[in-house]
Amino acid sequence: MPDVHSLPELVGGCLCGAVRYVARGRRDRAYACHCAECQTRSGSAFAMMLPVAAAGFMVTGETRSVPQEEANDIIATLHVCPACLTRLYTENPLWPELVILRAGTLDDSASVSPAFHLWVPKV
Ligand SMILES: [Zn+2]
Ligand SMILES: [Zn+2]
Repeated sequence: MPDVHSLPELVGGCLCGAVRYVARGRRDRAYACHCAECQTRSGSAFAMMLPVAAAGFMVTGETRSVPQEEANDIIATLHVCPACLTRLYTENPLWPELVILRAGTLDDSASVSPAFHLWVPKV
């Protein structure tokens, strides 16, 4: 892992503005997960994720923590704005050095497109 301060700064937050974050990471690492759980949680076709360095991640505002059961009985923690219910990021004990942002919460999310897709349904 490179020094986190050599990574680009990324800023974002929830829809209502109660929760804001500053992260360090590369926007070209975004990916789209089309698994059934991501579809149900997002109410959409996929969720777009962006792993960033936990060491460079700072949040202002309170989030609600929601336990999220993963494969192999791992319990990840999803952080949600308690006011507007925007899903912001996930922490997974398998990857303590990373925070998985919901890439759509970046202020410049229009500049992010997924580098790859997971669990794309067969058509
Ligand atoms: Zn909010
Ligand atoms: Zn998924």
